[in-house]
Amino acid sequence: MKKLGVAALLALLSHDICAQVDSIDATLEQKVIAWRRDIHANPELGNREFRTSKLVADHLRSLGIEVRTGVAHTGVVGLLKGGRPGPVVALRADMDALPVTERNDLPFASKVKAMWAGQETGVMHACGHDTHVAILMGVAELLAGRKADLKGSVKFIFQPAEEGAPPGEEGGARLMVKQGALENPVPEAIFGLHVSSPLPAGRIAYRSGPLMASSDGFRIVVKGKQTHGARPWGGVDPIVVAAQIVLGLQTIASRQIDVTLEPSIITVGMIRGGNRSNIIPDEVEMVGTVRTFNEAMRKDIHARIRHTAEAIAASSGASAVATVSYGYDVTHNNEKLTERAVATLKRVAGANNVIVSPKVTGAEDFSAYQKVIPGFFYFVGVTPGDIPPEKLGVNHSPLFMVDESQLKLGVRSLASLVLDYMEGSK
Ligand SMILES: [Zn+2]
Ligand SMILES: [Zn+2]
Repeated sequence: MKKLGVAALLALLSHDICAQVDSIDATLEQKVIAWRRDIHANPELGNREFRTSKLVADHLRSLGIEVRTGVAHTGVVGLLKGGRPGPVVALRADMDALPVTERNDLPFASKVKAMWAGQETGVMHACGHDTHVAILMGVAELLAGRKADLKGSVKFIFQPAEEGAPPGEEGGARLMVKQGALENPVPEAIFGLHVSSPLPAGRIAYRSGPLMASSDGFRIVVKGKQTHGARPWGGVDPIVVAAQIVLGLQTIASRQIDVTLEPSIITVGMIRGGNRSNIIPDEVEMVGTVRTFNEAMRKDIHARIRHTAEAIAASSGASAVATVSYGYDVTHNNEKLTERAVATLKRVAGANNVIVSPKVTGAEDFSAYQKVIPGFFYFVGVTPGDIPPEKLGVNHSPLFMVDESQLKLGVRSLASLVLDYMEGSK
């Protein structure tokens, strides 16, 4: 029998590990589905993921993974040290549910209620974060079973409050980073996924570079001078000024920014002012959101919002104060990492099932990790094939529904991304 060299042996070994992850056994798949149903029936709002966090920490400990709890309130960080020297690779799942009352007819549908912004509301995993937690628990079990062969370490990041912390609280990925989730040890790369509807089951969608938008808020207060509605010349009408500002803001994206570079959106979502038909009020308040895909453009648009509001108000003898507050950053997939990741995803899902995603104007706080280390974020299709499109509930809908047969694709893709990254490192 021909003797194999060390390099050939290692290649064979790494090939074996990957091959094993390209299919997962039915027992683990059933476990992942059971975890998902349990979490789905017991959803918790952002910064309140106490039960979910305990479930995760107990599971990681049972696998012999070092665990840190209480990060950014309820976050859990686990470290699985492999038997061979190599890089640290991080994986992230978000754990929070939404203030949505579930309308799905499922045996494990949520009946949970909680307080949100001073009102009682139903709570539902309407964005599929229950699947993210279950998938990452499955990946942890899969990789812990191959601990001796692992070329490096895996950091498991279970994060609270991706949808935003309750008013007045800090939370989410930024707080996880602030509290050391990416330190001791520092990962070389981070991977994360989001289940997506209406992406069909079996499909994976990715994009190199900017994938999801930055999401910033603004507030503009227009001050005029109160007077009788029949005698506008006796004061300064902040409602007319506010109307001019709304239209003026729309010319930033359409007339002032180079639309061929990246899209951008400015939306005024609320206007409040006045209390009676024949009174011109003193003041109008407007709030809105800004979406961009480029950091320089983002800062430029912020400045233009302030200037537009102030200059239009001044032209009418009113005044405006515009404040813009930074929300989530652009979810930017590192180009080199994406190239490597796509090769893995094509092997796992089949080349025809891996498609390029359009840019998404929604935002993700996965971007906070990508600000510190290279990261890759992608979408896994979970739209059930038997639901007609008109009845389909997309993410955040009370009818959001997941095809659970796709959870194993989530487990296989994340686990394979880690293993391929490790084996490909020097
Ligand atoms: Zn969401
Ligand atoms: Zn989400």
